[in-house]
Amino acid sequence: MLWIRIKYRLGLLYNITLFKLGLGKLLLKNRYGERILLFHGIDRNGETRYNSRFVSETFFDAFINYITTHYNVISLDDFYNKKFKKNTLNIAITFDDGYLNNYKYAVPILQKYNAPACFYITTVHKKAPYLWPDFIDLVSYHTTRTEITFQQNLYKKNNKNEFIWNGISLKTIAKTVSYDAIESIYHIFSEDWKNLPLEALGDYWKLMSPEQIKVIAIHPLFTIGAHGNTHINLTNVPLEVAQNEILTSKQQLESICKRHITEFAFPFGAYNPDIAKYCSELGFKRLLLIDYNTKEDSQNENYKNRFVINPYISMEQQISYLLKGSYF
Ligand SMILES: [Zn+2]
Repeated sequence: MLWIRIKYRLGLLYNITLFKLGLGKLLLKNRYGERILLFHGIDRNGETRYNSRFVSETFFDAFINYITTHYNVISLDDFYNKKFKKNTLNIAITFDDGYLNNYKYAVPILQKYNAPACFYITTVHKKAPYLWPDFIDLVSYHTTRTEITFQQNLYKKNNKNEFIWNGISLKTIAKTVSYDAIESIYHIFSEDWKNLPLEALGDYWKLMSPEQIKVIAIHPLFTIGAHGNTHINLTNVPLEVAQNEILTSKQQLESICKRHITEFAFPFGAYNPDIAKYCSELGFKRLLLIDYNTKEDSQNENYKNRFVINPYISMEQQISYLLKGSYF
């Protein structure tokens, strides 16, 4: 195992060195691959204090410039229809969650390079103006409180600004509970939230408005897909609750976009056969994952796994991992 790791590290170093020497193109020549990229948020400076899901506007611009110059960047539609080119990476771009920062920063850059993308939107607006993981990230980082009680358990803040009970973070626990329970977390931190510099932190929590979603939906480069209603983990709630999440997100997006929504990206990439079956029954033809649950799923034409962009590495490293098709 150690040798494999060393060998791999050497390989990666070799790729990065070539890239830095301007020989990146040589590397990419003849390298065939199919990748669907998964982005979340874009911000001005690539802040990683609040979450591990955002890249900077500068990185995004350089990255999209690079992949549209050197690879075959195609729409998800073409990806599903296998309109691939030989001897190159075939890439589709996706965004999860529906952040306002996608509209502000990503959309103009994608237009500049004529790069198609699909945006998977969480339709939480009627319940809250933010997604619960962002709420927890921001209040946990900024609050001066050192402990809170949730579901009778005492959580203490650690030096990474996480609230921990029994070795588990509040955010991890929140992935296992219903939205009602998550609303009680909002209640616990309601004063802390109000005291945040919310406008200055807007890139880290604001979501696209229905009007902005509509603008994207009618743009020829872009498509809209569903991503659940409240971003709960669908596999950790009763099936009827999961079904309601999926149905509500579809209905709300269809009423905003005035078109059929036929793509669904599972929140946290979490799915099971019952949930996937319900999605198909509702008319979702394309189901976007992070990792396949089983080998059979990887052979199912509806399912596609995605390559998650890593905000902690350089563009050279990101390209090298992208070529490899995995971080391991
Ligand atoms: Zn998500």
